Amino acid sequence: MFSRPAAGLEDTPRGRTAQALLRNCVHCGFCLPACPTYRVTGNELDSPRGRIYLIKQLVEGAPATTTTREHLDRCLTCRACERACPSGVEYGRLIDLGRELVEERVPRTLPQRALRQAFVEFLSRPRLFATAVRFGQAMRGWLPATLQARIPPRPSPAATGTTPHHARRVVLLDGCVQPGLAPGINAAAARVLDRIGIGVERVAGEQCCGALGHHLGHTGRALEQARRNVDACCAALDAGAEAIVSSASACGLMVKDYGRLLAEDAAYAGRARRVSAATRDLAEIIDPADLSRAGLVPSTGLRVAWQAPCTLQHGQQLGGRVEALLRAAGFGLEPTREATLCCGSAGTYSILQPGLSGELRRRKITALTAGSPQVIATANIGCLEHLRGASEVPVRHWIELVADALERQPAA
Ligand code: SF4
Ligand code: SF4
Repeated sequence: MFSRPAAGLEDTPRGRTAQALLRNCVHCGFCLPACPTYRVTGNELDSPRGRIYLIKQLVEGAPATTTTREHLDRCLTCRACERACPSGVEYGRLIDLGRELVEERVPRTLPQRALRQAFVEFLSRPRLFATAVRFGQAMRGWLPATLQARIPPRPSPAATGTTPHHARRVVLLDGCVQPGLAPGINAAAARVLDRIGIGVERVAGEQCCGALGHHLGHTGRALEQARRNVDACCAALDAGAEAIVSSASACGLMVKDYGRLLAEDAAYAGRARRVSAATRDLAEIIDPADLSRAGLVPSTGLRVAWQAPCTLQHGQQLGGRVEALLRAAGFGLEPTREATLCCGSAGTYSILQPGLSGELRRRKITALTAGSPQVIATANIGCLEHLRGASEVPVRHWIELVADALERQPAA
C-alpha cells in the first residue's frame, strides 16, 4: 500500500516508519476472518484491512473524525491479524502509530481524557489498587452486581517472599494489578521455581510495565515507566539474575518490546535491548522435563480448557508451551473452538468497549466450556479476571494448577 506522509510527518522517523509498515499491506483481506471485532460487527472498518486504510489516511493528513478514532479504539490490539497475514504486515506497530496520530488530530473531550488518565494512574499503582480491591472485597455485599462481578474473592494468605538460596536466580515481576487481584499466582510461581532449583527475587523500584498507558495513547508516561524498569532490571541482571520473568503474558510482551520502544533514546537504547533480550514468560523458564526431575509423576488431573491469551500466542508466539506443561503435570486438555480469538479483555478494553468486550467474552466462554471442563486455565491476569467475572467454571492461572500438582507429591 503506497502512502505519502503529510507535510510535517514527511522525512521524520515516524513518517518513514509509517510508509515502510504500510507498504507491506497488499489489501488481500486474508486477515479479516482472524479479526474478532470484524467477526462481531461485520464492518470492514472494524477489520485490520479497514483500520490500516484509516491509518494511511491519518498518515497522509486526510480529514479524520471521531468515527476514525472509534474504529481504532475498537481494535483489541490482539494481533491475531499479524499471524494470519501472508505479507508480514506488522499491524501492532501500525495501530500504535495510528493511535498516536488520532490522539493528536482528534482530541478527546475533557471528561474522556480525565477518565483515561485516571485509568493509567489508578491501575498502574499497585498499592493504591490493592487497597481499593481489599475495600471492595470488604464491602462486596453493598455493591451493585456489575461491580461485584469485577471484584475477585478474597484470596487465602499466600507466601510471596523471595527464594534466593539457589545458584540460578530470576527476577519475577510483580506487575501492577496482579498483586491486588491474585497474589497467589506469583506465590505459586515462586514455589514451582523453587522446586526446580530456581530462586526468585523482586526488584526495588519496579513500575507498571507501561502497557496500560501505551495502549491508551499515553506514550510519554509509558516510556517513562519503561525507563524506570530498565534501570531496576539492569541492576538485577548485573547482580547475577539470569532472566526477567513475568507470569502475566501482557506485561512480559511489553517488556520484551522495550528495546524497540526506546530505540531512539540514546541513554536507554542499549540497556532496554538487554532487558528485552533477558525477558521470558514464565512458561519459557520451566520445561516439562523440569517437572519430572522435581518428582512430579503425572496422575490423572482435572480436565482443563486452556485459554491462550493473545499476548502469549500472537504477541510472544509461545503457543503450545503451557499446554505441554499442563500435560506433563497430568492434566487433560479439552479441545476448544476459536482458540485464536481474543476473549475481549485487552487491558481497559473491557471497561471502555463493554458491548464488544462482553460479546467476545460470551463467545469465548461458550467455546471454552463446550467440552464441560472442570477448570479454565490462562496465563494473563487480565484475561483471568475478565473470564472469571462471567464463568461458572473456575478460572485459574496455569502455574497454580502446576503448583497444586507438584505439591500433592513429595519433593524429589
Ligand atoms: S492479510 Fe496482511 S496484506 Fe492482506 S489485507 Fe490483511 S494486513 Fe494487508
Ligand atoms: S489486532 Fe485484533 S482486533 Fe485489532 S485489527 Fe488485528 S485482529 Fe482485529
